[in-house]
Amino acid sequence: TMAAPVTAPDPAADPTADPTRVPVIEIRDLHKAYGPLQVIRGVSLTAPRGHVISLIGSSGSGKSTLLRCCNLLEDSQQGEILFEGEAVKWRGTGLARVPADRAQVTRLRTNLSMVFQQFNLWSHMTILQNVMEAPVHVLKRNPAQVEARARELLAKVGIGDKADAWPAQLSGGQQQRAAIARALCMEPRALLLDEPTSALDPELQQEVVRVIKDLAAEHRTMLLVTHDMRLAADVSDHVVFLHQGRIEEEGPPAQLFGAPRSERLRQFLSATM
Ligand code: ADP
Ligand code: MG
Repeated sequence: TMAAPVTAPDPAADPTADPTRVPVIEIRDLHKAYGPLQVIRGVSLTAPRGHVISLIGSSGSGKSTLLRCCNLLEDSQQGEILFEGEAVKWRGTGLARVPADRAQVTRLRTNLSMVFQQFNLWSHMTILQNVMEAPVHVLKRNPAQVEARARELLAKVGIGDKADAWPAQLSGGQQQRAAIARALCMEPRALLLDEPTSALDPELQQEVVRVIKDLAAEHRTMLLVTHDMRLAADVSDHVVFLHQGRIEEEGPPAQLFGAPRSERLRQFLSATM
């Protein structure tokens, strides 16, 4: 007699059946204004699990706003934001639209950890305390386990010996690496990095670039705003060029940097590279 064939479930049959196929972040036709100023004008973007999406564009094109809309640090007036396939619930419309579900906001925000240009470490806490603060006090995780993980992450970003130092005792590059360890200690589904190297002297940028490259090599999901076109070219699966709140051009880095189609992108690249 023949054994019955072993049939694996076909994940292609139902994209929601396999969580790895559901994008970590998806935004659809997003619009955002500050009062009368339209800043995001119909942007759609998908961050599949394990991918790095870079956002490039001139100052004022809406990159930071878009990142902040993704984890609901900013409201938006129109369009959808999905986190792992779950649509953000809104109430109200237009300028009065706000997230409707506080628990959902918290869940989404703790799962999309942000790294800012200016590090934003708490100056009255040691580096270790900075990294442990949110996992212990927001997520209510076990302090001893969080401490072990925090020390591991500090070692991973190359500042394992700085756990008991104060932020002011660290260089900018070390502070930014501490901020990345802090974001990682939330065990987020994605990292949102807003110009993580822009506040650093060129020689200190490289140590942060190395950490970001390591994270990309581990297939961390990241949305990365950067002025560093070499970094974007090296780590991205997909690059989005924003111009005045719209996607002017997007594609794989080889295409965007190697064969830009839009005149605006060509001008932008010739001014920055
Ligand atoms: P980028 O990060 O690409 O430099 P931003 O997202 O910071 O661009 O800004 C996009 C536009 O929104 C700019 O015109 C900026 O002046 C405006 N803007 C940003 N934040 C605010 C705010 N809090 N209030 C009003 N306007 C803002
Ligand atoms: Mg910005």
